[in-house]
Amino acid sequence: ESAEDVGSHLGRAVRELPSTKAIDSLLVAGKRSGTLRLKSDKPVVVLLGSGWGAHSIMKVIDTDTYEVVCVSPRNHFLFTPMLPSTAAGTIEFRSLLEPVRVANPFLRYVEASCDKVDVNNKIIYCTSQNAYEDGFRPKFEVPYDLLVVAVGEQPATFGVPGVDEHCYYMKEIPDSVGLRQRIQQQFELAALPGTKVEDMRRALHFVVVGGGPTGVEFAGTLSDFLREDLKKKYPELMQFVRVSLLNATPSILVQFDEKMRQYALENFKRVGVEVRNDTAVVEVTKNTIKLGNGEELPYGVCVWSAGNAPRPLVKELAASIPEQAQYQPGGRPSKLAVDSYLRVIGAKDVLALGDASLFVPERLPATAQVAGQQGAYAAHLVNRGFALGRGGMGQPPPKKPVEKLTLTDKAHAALGKTILEEPEVEKGVAYYNKAFEFVNLGILAYLGNESALTQIELPFGRKLKLAGELSYLIYKSVYITKQVSFRNRVLILVDWVKAKVFGRDLSNY
Ligand code: FAD
Repeated sequence: ESAEDVGSHLGRAVRELPSTKAIDSLLVAGKRSGTLRLKSDKPVVVLLGSGWGAHSIMKVIDTDTYEVVCVSPRNHFLFTPMLPSTAAGTIEFRSLLEPVRVANPFLRYVEASCDKVDVNNKIIYCTSQNAYEDGFRPKFEVPYDLLVVAVGEQPATFGVPGVDEHCYYMKEIPDSVGLRQRIQQQFELAALPGTKVEDMRRALHFVVVGGGPTGVEFAGTLSDFLREDLKKKYPELMQFVRVSLLNATPSILVQFDEKMRQYALENFKRVGVEVRNDTAVVEVTKNTIKLGNGEELPYGVCVWSAGNAPRPLVKELAASIPEQAQYQPGGRPSKLAVDSYLRVIGAKDVLALGDASLFVPERLPATAQVAGQQGAYAAHLVNRGFALGRGGMGQPPPKKPVEKLTLTDKAHAALGKTILEEPEVEKGVAYYNKAFEFVNLGILAYLGNESALTQIELPFGRKLKLAGELSYLIYKSVYITKQVSFRNRVLILVDWVKAKVFGRDLSNY
């Protein structure tokens, strides 16, 4: 029998033992079987992912009552809104991370990807992120009592040839690290003696594809890096530097009101970022970006932040549940449709949240804010012991009488993070089973040149709109307060001071 067969038999045998719970039967397939540790009989909650949604759950979930297993290929949480700043060296990337094992030392973390979910038998199948010296990547399976899918999305190429090979994404730390190094290399290349002018122009043409907040923030941050640091060290090259932002739709930053968009465009004019709307990229080759109108742009670095697409795991899972079909746009499986309680429609004991989910009651944006609030909400549902059952519109989980608010409830209420604080009262007894409600706290975008946009939703459909330096101060204070730990706050403050006093680091490593 093959190594995988042995693993699978072992898995079945262990599952059949009466005392077996998932945490005890984490199995490594093949001859290098993992240790089967019988720890407890607690119900097992498996979290897929370590991003905004999963991190928010792991901070709140009651590990005394549940055995929590987190499976993610990434052993840390990443504060994504500030990722563009790390590519320009304003912030060091480690300042934006929190290891899962620090976020919650009482959960079991496994560095692996989930490849498949069997919702009928309540088992997930995983492959380790790391390989042994002979290249063997252990596979294992984890049975669960409740599964939470928070695997987010992946960058979308929209089928444009050459994107994967030649562009940098802005999604994870390695993207940003590679990009930072590449920017520096392009300057050193252009500075080589004997480099032709056309090669300098090509090397120093930085192209950002995508006019959403991520593309805009990166273009703004890059322009700061150019004006504040690179200009001092490579003054003779600045005449060849060009930053272009290519946007396929008629406007950048569609999330913001028209006036704010205009402000962003004017700011980009001031800092030298050329914005081209209605400009679709149709192919990227090693040295050229081909546009829909037939134009070819020579470039040195291309950052692709044109949008996201569902992960294969999510598409396959959605396709495997017949009840999902009616909610999938165009009938094609994409995200996991969830009901008002974040239960995956048609699946038993599976919750989905964040970018991987499609909240059926209301169209929600794919943002950290939504994922974070959904994570806190899901943790409260689980902590209160709801028998979540099968997801489906119009079938709420059974009501639970309120005993008392826990400390985390109170903390979350104070942070405005959860919406579970208003129990329904029936015949003098208070009950919880409130559906999830998104509380929109507003949106921010950094534009470069110490200028930002702030749009905050106020009661009665009104909005507070600010653009410029004051907005930049708000942006900085919000991001500092929103950090997930005191450590991260201190590290970011130190990075900001370092960049201001000594300039951004120019080493090419
Ligand atoms: P993610 O945070 O993406 O987490 C997904 C997790 O799943 C990751 O840990 C990943 O490693 C893991 N995973 C992937 N595949 C598997 C698998 N097969 N098995 C197990 N685990 C898996 N939102 C805002 O609200 N404001 C902003 O300013 C903002 N700026 C952004 C800037 C950037 C550069 C980016 C990339 C995003 C930004 N967003 C912002 C969007 C925000 O980051 C996402 O909406 C949010 O991360 C979604 O959270 P999530 O938990 O659904 O997924």
